[in-house]
Amino acid sequence: MEHNDGGANCFITNHLSHFTSYIPKPLQVRQLNGSSINALGYGLKLVQCPTTKIIIPLWPTCYMPTNPQCTFSPTALKHYLHYSTNTIHLECLHITTSNGQQLSLPSVKDHSINQLLDYHKFLVVKPISSSDPLSTPIPKVFSANSEASLTRLLAHQRLAHNSDEVLDTMCRNQSLLSLPKQPFPSRSCPCIICITAKFMHPPKAKTTSYVLTRRGQLLHIDFWFWSIPSIQGFTSLLSIIDGKDRMLWTFPTANKRPPLAILDYFFAILEKHNIPVCNVRVDEDGALANSSEFTDFLVQKKIAMETT
Ligand SMILES: [Zn+2]
Repeated sequence: MEHNDGGANCFITNHLSHFTSYIPKPLQVRQLNGSSINALGYGLKLVQCPTTKIIIPLWPTCYMPTNPQCTFSPTALKHYLHYSTNTIHLECLHITTSNGQQLSLPSVKDHSINQLLDYHKFLVVKPISSSDPLSTPIPKVFSANSEASLTRLLAHQRLAHNSDEVLDTMCRNQSLLSLPKQPFPSRSCPCIICITAKFMHPPKAKTTSYVLTRRGQLLHIDFWFWSIPSIQGFTSLLSIIDGKDRMLWTFPTANKRPPLAILDYFFAILEKHNIPVCNVRVDEDGALANSSEFTDFLVQKKIAMETT
């Protein structure tokens, strides 16, 4: 039985055995009411509707062994998977998956009273050969004599996690040997690697010229390299120009990694002078815009990035 919680913004499970893949990394889950609860880790739980055979990937599912029940969250289904959900008279839940498949949970007479839906009709799809969800999945190795059955997921993973549309085009054009002429059947669950490794983009502001009213509102930052090291051994330069008064600061550095420690120090000094930094503008294809360290740093500092 899973608790259908309209207010929950994530899926919760209290059984490790429910996970298809699991990352034992503790995290805090923020609830819609503003409070936070601790989860021991998170992962992917797959459930299958026995009548329609549609598999629903519940991602991210948080592991909370002390939680009294497993929680199913229509909000998370909408937010993370773009499924639409519709509760009819609080009796019956209709789910439309992102590729248009529909399933509805039969009405349960108790539901309108206690908000419990009969989700035990859903089967938890478990890892095929793993009884211990904590063990890392063992990749199958195919030798020259055995033949891997090429599925959409395997092809997607071998081709650098490309999009389904690109893979379909490659099949139609027969771009590679052994790709089927007809595109693969569509996937019923997402690629766990794509979900886990998803790049976090910082909030981007529009690149428009606007009136700057104070210092720190917009900093132009560039980081560039020299082909010949300076006498003191510097190989790159961080330059920062304030958009309001065009004040310039430069910091030479001895390596090509984004100098986050310098930026951290610089922003702290500005903060001390009551100049909080709101936006930074960097080159579209520069060393900074392409650095996930730098963009993560901005996210952490709550600074929006603009690109030229
Ligand atoms: Zn992938």
